[in-house]
Amino acid sequence: MSEETTSKAPEAGATQAPQGAAGPGGPGGGPRPGGRPGGGPGGRGKFFRRKKVCKFCTEKIDAIPYRDVRLLQGFVAERGKIVPRRLTGVCTTHQRRLTRAIKQARNIALLPFATRH
Ligand SMILES: [Zn+2]
Repeated sequence: MSEETTSKAPEAGATQAPQGAAGPGGPGGGPRPGGRPGGGPGGRGKFFRRKKVCKFCTEKIDAIPYRDVRLLQGFVAERGKIVPRRLTGVCTTHQRRLTRAIKQARNIALLPFATRH
């Protein structure tokens, strides 16, 4: 009876070819892997409830205080992006003022700019 006890780790099976060298494949347009996982049934509704009336109009806020970070943050996505008024329900007039206020807030470092990825 001769048993071979292989104490070596059997990791030699996985062959990982380093794809880094410029092969002679040429710039042939291959099929792109991955892509956007879009196509799901209904995806929005996470940020805000859709309001019919603009919040600022409702509360009769004429000038949007750019110092009110909490207020502004409600209209800024996590990455610092301004949420489109489609999602917020803000009217055009106030959205414009809001954008301005957010940009002002950014300039004085109250709000972050869009975080680069
Ligand atoms: Zn409004």
